[in-house]
Amino acid sequence: MKANEALVTRRNALALLASLPVMLLRLGEAKAALFPALDEDVAAEVAPYSPALVTREQWRAKPPLPGMKPQVPRGIIIHHTAVRQNAGLPLESKMRNLQSFSQQPGQVSPKVLKPAWPDVPYHYYIDHAGLIAEGRDVRFAGDTNTKYDTVGYIQLVLEGDFEVEHPASAQVELTRQLLAVLMLCWNVPVNRISVHKDHAPTTCPGRNFTKLLPDLLAKVAEDRQRLTVELCGRAGRPGFVKRYCEPG
Ligand SMILES: [Zn+2]
Repeated sequence: MKANEALVTRRNALALLASLPVMLLRLGEAKAALFPALDEDVAAEVAPYSPALVTREQWRAKPPLPGMKPQVPRGIIIHHTAVRQNAGLPLESKMRNLQSFSQQPGQVSPKVLKPAWPDVPYHYYIDHAGLIAEGRDVRFAGDTNTKYDTVGYIQLVLEGDFEVEHPASAQVELTRQLLAVLMLCWNVPVNRISVHKDHAPTTCPGRNFTKLLPDLLAKVAEDRQRLTVELCGRAGRPGFVKRYCEPG
């Protein structure tokens, strides 16, 4: 190899090295797009901590129908599906079934009819194995068969009837991870995490989940604190630093 050829190769290698941080940043941003947040800086900082998602594209979601109400999440509400866990059906099918039920009018109980909703009522669905599916876009309010205003809440549902069965440990673990990430994405304090029965007359999310809630919330509060300290300890993006790392 001639000397100037070697130089060119070395230059290429240096150029590649120089572009690596940008490429890594882009990877981070690509992941951030799955978890929208208060702003792009927050989304990008939180992205590396985000749990994997089965995306709408992956479960082959239909587009939402017109009529969704825009929202900025200020709180999180936890539900159960009130149907027993079904390990025999893939999560993708469960989501497609839920969407087709959601998007047409139907009988919810002998006395209750539901209208067609624009999309699945929940923003995130956690199955029995702890897999998380992306539901309705979190920037639009969910839907409910009960009477309360859903605007301002992230609706999170766990597969199962927790009046009769128990949440699986993987499911609780992933719920914890998801909650910590969502709290940082939207600056939700732990006292703004609630369950459906705090808002309307229902047993949702079931007695066996409700029993676990105080311990889960204590752990989530610790997770959020630990992540914040970790993220603020690095050279952070200004939008994140201003919101989470500066006193006052
Ligand atoms: Zn519910």
